[in-house]
Amino acid sequence: MTETTTSSSDSSAGSDSSAGTEQAGTWRDDFSRVLSPVFGSPQLDLVRGQGSKVWDASGKEYLDLLAGIAVNALGHCHPAWVKAISEQAGTLGHISNFFTSPPQIALASKLHEILDLPAGSAVFLSNSGTEANEAAFKMARRAGGGGRPFVIAVEGAFHGRTMGSLALTAKAAYREPFAPGVPGVVHVPYGDVDALAAAINDTCAAVFIEPVQGEVGVRTHPAGYLQKARELTRSAGALLVLDEVQSGMGRTGHWYAHQDPEIGEGVVPDIISSAKGLGGGMPIGATITVGAENTKLLEAGQHGTTFGGNPLASAAALAVIDTIETEDLLTHVRDTGQWLRGELEQVAVVKSVSGAGLLLGVEIDGDAKAAAARALEAGFIINPVTPERLRLAPPLTITREELQPFLTALPGLIAG
Ligand SMILES: *Cc1c(COP(=O)(O)O)cnc(C)c1O
Repeated sequence: MTETTTSSSDSSAGSDSSAGTEQAGTWRDDFSRVLSPVFGSPQLDLVRGQGSKVWDASGKEYLDLLAGIAVNALGHCHPAWVKAISEQAGTLGHISNFFTSPPQIALASKLHEILDLPAGSAVFLSNSGTEANEAAFKMARRAGGGGRPFVIAVEGAFHGRTMGSLALTAKAAYREPFAPGVPGVVHVPYGDVDALAAAINDTCAAVFIEPVQGEVGVRTHPAGYLQKARELTRSAGALLVLDEVQSGMGRTGHWYAHQDPEIGEGVVPDIISSAKGLGGGMPIGATITVGAENTKLLEAGQHGTTFGGNPLASAAALAVIDTIETEDLLTHVRDTGQWLRGELEQVAVVKSVSGAGLLLGVEIDGDAKAAAARALEAGFIINPVTPERLRLAPPLTITREELQPFLTALPGLIAG
């Protein structure tokens, strides 16, 4: 075992094999012989998924309340998603960015539409959340024509694992082994308007904020914080970057969390990063510049990617957006999320519930890691995001009927 963290919004955690089943199957040995140790020992060997359920190699069924860490927006193997990918794979899979393709243009157009972007806004497509933030970081370095030496991020933030995004990530344990990191990142205390005001000045390039912080146990910001951040960045001439990698694509019952008036407080950011649920399981990331001025931050040739925006990933993301629309999943997420929250709050061993829509943090009176291990035994995949908080991020399609057995089992899972 090399991994000791209990968190996992970046998929590296839940790595303690004690959280899994007892069996020391050969797949575990095979895994450790041929795969990198960075994720620790996997909890399960999964072979199949359908809707909100997955099955392991022994045939045991699990209700997936984590959805690949807020990725499988439509659940597993949704027919519309499978069809879009299958048809696109049989038509045109990859072409390089010397060329474009209908799914790429259609996807970007759809993102403009659901974000109600002003003219001149633009979508840069990549392959992951960390890449989406890397592009945003490079844009920040170009803010005001370049020469602004620092950016601000918030304590508790998770922005990714590549060197630029890693510098923005708050947790020192993730950064310190890789010193020297990318310079020029200042972390300010969470929820503290005065600290932000004290840190920002007209040499600041950008402020990076997750509208909902996932890694620290799913928390939104205190009322007024985002609005104040918008005011401060505007008067300093700095960019406001919203990392919606986890909170976007319907997760909170809005296309992007900042579009929820309660979370976003009407704030219009300069840059939005998106990934995770965007592809519904196909790797894709997007960095969205709001307005023509922000789109000009990167000129032709200043950034690039080989895979980004390829027809296959674009077709998958397009199918996710189309299905969220045709199945009215934003309404479903708001309704189901509110109901789930209410039900969770009635569980005696639950101390508090945070988050929005179907991205919930559940503070429990007990050990989250032990509860998640018992849940797995009982056939429920949940995430012990901190020692005392469980994270739930099920498929957006999940129903109350599917959630009910978990709610019934929860007191026993927590009490042990
Ligand atoms: C998961 C996550 C990332 C990193 O995304 P990857 O696809 O793992 O690189 C960045 N920001 C937030 C808020 C995330 O939740």
